Amino acid sequence: MLIAGRCHCCNISFALDWRPEPSEIPARACTCSFCAKHGGVWTSCPTGSLIVSVKDRPRVSTYAFGTKTAEFHVCTACGVVPVVTSRIDGRLYAVVSVNAFENVDPALLRRASASFERENEQARLSRRKRNWIADVQFETTS
Ligand SMILES: [Zn+2]
Repeated sequence: MLIAGRCHCCNISFALDWRPEPSEIPARACTCSFCAKHGGVWTSCPTGSLIVSVKDRPRVSTYAFGTKTAEFHVCTACGVVPVVTSRIDGRLYAVVSVNAFENVDPALLRRASASFERENEQARLSRRKRNWIADVQFETTS
């Protein structure tokens, strides 16, 4: 399934090739202090591939906090956060926001809240390696 997503002004867009075809898509409402403030709901397919396209790189800011092992990619024009990345052992992993989806039937989403605040850094990184999208590319389109 090819999932298209973007921020509100289209500066950041993504194409997630979800393989194999999903019967449902987990949607994790993250309860961390940052996601609670902007309503972050994330998903990932560890066997899928993701291409993130940015039109205007200066209008993307990256935000990190806590262990500073993940970067939230914030469109500074419209304020939407479509993607989070984490670089682990030289490889870039990512999750995407289901709120940024353009072409997915909401009935496919299995929503649940998720709390990772009790994890230590090592547990957090190994979970990302298992669960996050492991094939991630960024491209600038302008
Ligand atoms: Zn935007």
